[in-house]
Amino acid sequence: MSLPGDRERLSALSRQLPGVEVRLRRLRRSLVSVRRASDRLILTLHPAVVYDPDCSVFIGAWIAHQGRHGTSQRLRAWLDDIRLRNRNADMEMHRNHLRGMETIGGDCDVQARASRIHAAAFADLDLPVLRWSRRPPKRRLRHLRFGCYRRLPQPVIEISPRLARPWVAACFFDHVLHHELCHHRQHRSGAPRSEGIHSKRFRVWERDFPGHDEALFWERMALPWLLDDSEPPWYRDAPCTVPPASSPPSS
Ligand SMILES: [Zn+2]
Repeated sequence: MSLPGDRERLSALSRQLPGVEVRLRRLRRSLVSVRRASDRLILTLHPAVVYDPDCSVFIGAWIAHQGRHGTSQRLRAWLDDIRLRNRNADMEMHRNHLRGMETIGGDCDVQARASRIHAAAFADLDLPVLRWSRRPPKRRLRHLRFGCYRRLPQPVIEISPRLARPWVAACFFDHVLHHELCHHRQHRSGAPRSEGIHSKRFRVWERDFPGHDEALFWERMALPWLLDDSEPPWYRDAPCTVPPASSPPSS
């Protein structure tokens, strides 16, 4: 989707940057991406970036100075600001929906939750050992590994204790368990070495989880609070402040 004025801004930016092909695309994991083709640079921008009136200033300086003279740091800060504004707008729009989502509550029984998912979708396999992983540091994190699957010496699924919070959405917690159980299926089915860790068939199994889309929606909204280890504002009407934007997590 592009907003009125995006195309004009994009053409103005292209004129400002000779030798650069500027594209508009809703990137999944970042707002800006740049790669070198044989005779030009290909710069792909998220619509949220192009929509910002300062686009040509920050992007232009960054390209012109090839990321030097502090232009990378200034670009990063500006992108963080855009992310923050977008997240706030999203959160306001979805506040009631988020508030209505079922949470895991206190004293999360990871074993019982995993057993239920195992019985529903993985009953043909053995159930790996389930445990919490090591407690991450108390500070705000830039990355958070929600869960981890280890094949050897015996199959083990570890879940981050950062998810043992009463405000974590039940569908998200179960999605993480389901994701790790998909790794177990991959292992038990004798995946060849050439198969990628999140291969095509893995993604098909993963999407079989009934709460898949809802879980990803919650993750997108709640990630800053997961990284910050603080209650999100839609839970018990805590004061509404968004922690600074951070990098995407891995699981
Ligand atoms: Zn994975």
